[in-house]
Amino acid sequence: MTGMRFFHEEGIILRKKPLREKDELVILLSLHHGKMVLMCFGSRDPKSRKAGALELANSVVFQVREGSDNRNSLDQVKLLKSRGFSYVDSSHQDLEHYYRAMEILKLTDAMLEESQSVQSVYYNLNVALDNVREDAIVVVYWIRLLNDLGYLPDWKLCCSCHVVLAEADEMLFSTENKGFAHRHCCQVGGNILLKQVDITLVKVMRYCQSVGMDDALRVTVDRTVLADIKGILESLEIH
Ligand SMILES: [Zn+2]
Repeated sequence: MTGMRFFHEEGIILRKKPLREKDELVILLSLHHGKMVLMCFGSRDPKSRKAGALELANSVVFQVREGSDNRNSLDQVKLLKSRGFSYVDSSHQDLEHYYRAMEILKLTDAMLEESQSVQSVYYNLNVALDNVREDAIVVVYWIRLLNDLGYLPDWKLCCSCHVVLAEADEMLFSTENKGFAHRHCCQVGGNILLKQVDITLVKVMRYCQSVGMDDALRVTVDRTVLADIKGILESLEIH
């Protein structure tokens, strides 16, 4: 006889997928097991006590029951921190915060594989969700995430000749190499996408790559620069 196994974890709700009438799949980023996909029985029932705790972006502690069919289920859940992001009763400003939070959750869910656990991502996600008031939060979190998952080259170096880039150098951003390069190192043409970038944008991006979340959040960045950085991150199409 094989005994049922249980364990306790802590995590943040990234996404939920309805299944049948009252059940759902809950996708979380957990502290020790990385991204987890768990069956949750009965939580879509309005009378369920689990439902309130399982709102998106909330931090929860929960008990996992290991399933024989490789699909674990979420047994008990207790709210650790409610972030109260709601689409329905939001003022205009709250709505902007709500969209930022949803973007942060979506990026995390899209970039991590099931059971993929990367140190720092759990901490950074917590910080990001607690700072949705900051205009730069999505961009800062996105860069940290790409960097910590190993997608980015060192932005201090030219991604073509690997020499340190000086502020006075004319630079382009290469989508293919995911980094900055001297203009004279770039072969224009082919299918390599190159973007003209100004030094303010380069400085902000490099700074976010080289420091932790807390320091990166202290930079004040113009909204137009943020929009340009976001355009570059989107062009990388990593998800
Ligand atoms: Zn170069």
